[in-house]
Amino acid sequence: MDYSYIINKLGENRENYFNAVSPPIIQTSNFAFNSVNEMKVALSNEKEISCYTRGKNPTVDILNQKIAALEGSESALTVSSGVSAISLSILSNIKKGEHIVCVKDPYSWTNKLLNNFLPKFGVETTMIDGKNIGNWKDSIKKNTKIFYLETPNSFTFELQDIKEISKIAKENNIITIVDNSYSTFINQKPLELGADIVIYSATKYIGGHSDVVAGIICSNNEMINKIFYNEFMTFGNIISPNDAWLLIRGLRTLKIRLDKITDNAKKIIKYLKTQEKVLEILYPFDENFKQYDLAIKQMKDATGLFTVRFDFKNKTQAEKFSNSIKNFLLAVSWGGHESLILPTCVFPNENTPYDYVRFYTGLEEADFLINDIDNALKAI
Ligand SMILES: *Cc1c(COP(=O)(O)O)cnc(C)c1O
Repeated sequence: MDYSYIINKLGENRENYFNAVSPPIIQTSNFAFNSVNEMKVALSNEKEISCYTRGKNPTVDILNQKIAALEGSESALTVSSGVSAISLSILSNIKKGEHIVCVKDPYSWTNKLLNNFLPKFGVETTMIDGKNIGNWKDSIKKNTKIFYLETPNSFTFELQDIKEISKIAKENNIITIVDNSYSTFINQKPLELGADIVIYSATKYIGGHSDVVAGIICSNNEMINKIFYNEFMTFGNIISPNDAWLLIRGLRTLKIRLDKITDNAKKIIKYLKTQEKVLEILYPFDENFKQYDLAIKQMKDATGLFTVRFDFKNKTQAEKFSNSIKNFLLAVSWGGHESLILPTCVFPNENTPYDYVRFYTGLEEADFLINDIDNALKAI
């Protein structure tokens, strides 16, 4: 299906709402029926027929249709956050006595789910260095049900070979889940490479304006139906019709935003490479990146996040640099219109190195951002 058709037409039956160009926000909790028979049919098919907004809401449904088409999956389910997409897809495929293999240092709350929460229910997880294919093979046990990948991750950008790992998973009846938040379906298609489930923090690039928290699960109809009728309807992790509308709006500009964001990242990296105080730059599409070959094999491009190690003499200098930056906001998260920094000197743990700064480039002009970094480097 054509990308332009998906973002502007698919799922938008405008004749049903006065030919409005922008779809209505169907802000209702429930839907009425014209007859007992109609209601009976709806109650036994809550995923396909609007009955109650915890199940199917028409505004959310437009979004789900577009996301599935963009991902190239049979189905998509939007949920209340990225972590709920992660939790629901894991919980739906695991039970007491079973085992998960996960890449080490995943998103912090994925780590919490696997290592603090699931052990209470008799589920065990092995965390591995996912760069090495052999590690995946070696950690398979008789009861292993899930391989969990996050490629690239959002701080050091380590990658996993989705195709090779999914192949090993298939041979062992293991479900492969990939957190694709960094790349989005614009730059990486895990399902085409053999993965079973793709999850997103839609809070990041898909929303794109730092005003919505949401998550998405993409998979085949059977898997999404299973998650919908079990974990999703029981836990009730829905998004509001209003948030779905904001995400539909975000989708319309996702590709041009990513183009600008990526272009900015590359221009800033080019500048940083000329700076003495820069010791190392972590960015998947940088030729010096350790996994550059894998990056160009499975991704179309890198996006707007990169991490820099600076030659700061001490923690005070690291703090001075971050306090001197004015045009990048000092904040967690990423994917919005605004550029951000996350310096490791903010973390309380004494063992965390203080000399790394993660940059996210937004939609500003590159020179505006480069001048800002240049001033901050001069200030220290
Ligand atoms: C932010 C993030 C999440 C969590 O998403 P929320 O929408 O904040 O719940 C998961 N994975 C990655 C890689 C993220 O960056």
